[in-house]
Amino acid sequence: MALKVCKFGGTSMADGHTMIKVKNIVESDPDRRYVVVSAPGKRFSGDTKVTDLLYKCHAELTEHGDCKLAFADVRRRFEGIVKELNLDFDMASVLDDTERRMEEERSEDFTASRGEYLAAVVMARLLGAKFIDAEDVVFFDENGAFDDKKSYAAIATAAEGAERVVVPGFYGSRAGGGVKTFSRGGSDISGAIVARAAGATVYENWTDVSGFLACDPRIVDSPRRIKTLSYKELRELSYMGANVLHSESIFPVRRANIPIVIKNTFRPEDEGTSILPIAQYKPGGSIVTGIAGKKNFTVIFIEKSHMNSEVGFIRKVLSVLERFGVSVEHIPSGIDTMSVVLDSSALDNFKLEQILECIKAEVEPDFMRVSENIALIATVGHGMSSSVGTSARLFKALAEEGVNVKMIDQGSSELNIIVGVKDEDMEKCIAAIYREFFGNN
Ligand code: ADP
Ligand code: ASP
Ligand code: MG
Repeated sequence: MALKVCKFGGTSMADGHTMIKVKNIVESDPDRRYVVVSAPGKRFSGDTKVTDLLYKCHAELTEHGDCKLAFADVRRRFEGIVKELNLDFDMASVLDDTERRMEEERSEDFTASRGEYLAAVVMARLLGAKFIDAEDVVFFDENGAFDDKKSYAAIATAAEGAERVVVPGFYGSRAGGGVKTFSRGGSDISGAIVARAAGATVYENWTDVSGFLACDPRIVDSPRRIKTLSYKELRELSYMGANVLHSESIFPVRRANIPIVIKNTFRPEDEGTSILPIAQYKPGGSIVTGIAGKKNFTVIFIEKSHMNSEVGFIRKVLSVLERFGVSVEHIPSGIDTMSVVLDSSALDNFKLEQILECIKAEVEPDFMRVSENIALIATVGHGMSSSVGTSARLFKALAEEGVNVKMIDQGSSELNIIVGVKDEDMEKCIAAIYREFFGNN
């Protein structure tokens, strides 16, 4: 028998009206037995997500010892939802308990996690399903890493015998006690964890777009939908900014070969996108699968004659970064040149200056240059390795836009080409690459 785990994102959970859509989707298919929810997101542009309201609560708590003011907005959202849904239960006392526990715990992660907790309490009521608190079934180990075996076993046990269950996304329990959240957008990971634990036949990720699109719909108007995507392509695109699905969501499902399907809560009849373990590229098909971009990187370019023959050169540069606890995103290199690409949010000016001094002392380069505010754009597709001239087409498209490409890295997997451009050029470059490979439709 098929078993579906469905995760509903913030827009799907935004208010009572959208929650009814969720209920209809879940109840239209008896296989949809596990439901994972996000906190209510934006109801309209300019609205604030509940999770962001909760981070404000934490700031108020830290400053004043309570969060009455900021929590009043959260209270209003949930009381409004329960009223709209005509649910007969005492939401006010659930909210009182939540506020009290937030004041006791004083933990940012605990406070931020309450949007998912409250949303799941409401959704379980609406569906008449069993509520399973993620705090009791999703665990992190002493190093803060997700504890897969312990969590999968606990989820399976908690769901035993229940016809349908609802689990809040985004958080679990720390080894020493207390709540810990995943990074932002992490309910997608929770959905994948539950799918793995349940032995699901499919992990349905319900959002506000009809699938994974060939690029961000906020950059190109109505980009083409990607029908199928491999796990690898998904990882590349989501890591590089296509945040429709969190880049870590594939890990729990990959080992068990569980496909992910992206669906639109507001157009449930649309086909969506299937994410499958293996590539579906057929000769003659689309060369490029998708394009994604992310801003705010720093590139350190290093030049030294005979770098290539100097044993340990790259290691010495990388060990400096390791000493400063900075992880490296990419290392494009030539015969006498190398660059290291770093996420700027991990660097403050002081640290960067120290890093540069240490690299100078360590490898005595002939020349070194730093470029800040660099955006990386990944053009991804299994079809790229077997098609001659793909990079030529890409660079021609960028040249025609008059864009200065600061860095190039053709991934060793031959699955992607990454270019670095100025932050402010990112959108026009993505649009130009899109036009080159997909035309104007
Ligand atoms: P949810 O709240 O359902 O988790 P998210 O906001 O996290 O939804 O993700 C959906 C959004 O991702 C879309 O509304 C869209 O604006 C954005 N997005 C960015 N890149 C892409 C892409 N390549 N395909 C589809 N959506 C994308
Ligand atoms: N609510 C959390 C966030 O806003 C997690 C999620 O939506 O997936 O990041
Ligand atoms: Mg999301």
